[in-house]
Amino acid sequence: MINYTERIGLLMHDIVVRTPRLSFIDLREVVVFGRFGRSDAEGAFATCHCLTLPESEPGYYFWRDRSTGQLTRRSEWFITKSPEVRVGGTRIKYLVSFVLPRFCDQSLERSRKAGLYSGDAPGWLAKLDTIVHELYHIDPDESGIRRVSRSDGTDSPRSHGPLFYEDVAEMVRGYLDSGADPALYDFLRDDFSALTSRHGGIVATTFRNFPSFPQRYMEAVDMPSADPFVRVERLKPLTQPVLYTEDDLHMRHFTEAGARRLPRKGQHRAA
Ligand SMILES: [Zn+2]
Repeated sequence: MINYTERIGLLMHDIVVRTPRLSFIDLREVVVFGRFGRSDAEGAFATCHCLTLPESEPGYYFWRDRSTGQLTRRSEWFITKSPEVRVGGTRIKYLVSFVLPRFCDQSLERSRKAGLYSGDAPGWLAKLDTIVHELYHIDPDESGIRRVSRSDGTDSPRSHGPLFYEDVAEMVRGYLDSGADPALYDFLRDDFSALTSRHGGIVATTFRNFPSFPQRYMEAVDMPSADPFVRVERLKPLTQPVLYTEDDLHMRHFTEAGARRLPRKGQHRAA
């Protein structure tokens, strides 16, 4: 079976080496993982998730009486934090997720990216474009996600202007013209069904709590109460880990219908 996330990781290494604008990226601090998403459903092909965003300022939710406008109850004070992910002792700064099978079935045809490439460009270039796009979100200043202001650390599709897409297409063309070994990107030519028949199946790194993965969470903090007469609701207890390690990385076998865990724990390598 083909290990799709590992293949993307190897390709990313070569892209970073050959692309001066991405050469600052240390891929030991990046984990590539798979999420499930059908090809015929709307949604992202891939996402860059930042784990280095600072804690939020303390805040709380509140409820008001509709007629009087008076505060009736509020949540505990809380801050929003990123979970910690450590692989082999290295603190992971970014996660890049690929949505399978949707990512594999992506093509330049009928895509808004098509206009950025020549008319005879092969459809699979859309996938290389997505990989470079997600790498380009890694911020050289380590302050989060380039050109993204969403507070949960994910990539907002409305947050990049046309220049972002043009930069990405330029890097894709530059990479292909750099004499890269086609053996590193040939797997992108196949769609999901062609990959499945060629390799007998597709596996990918996922997190133990699949379909979940490390995401921002709320942590209660002690703050003086301004109004002791307002009822305070406790936050829901955490259901997801706040620390993940290599033991939380599980290989799953992806099909058109879903993903199931492999009986044996797979090898993991950071991107
Ligand atoms: Zn983006």
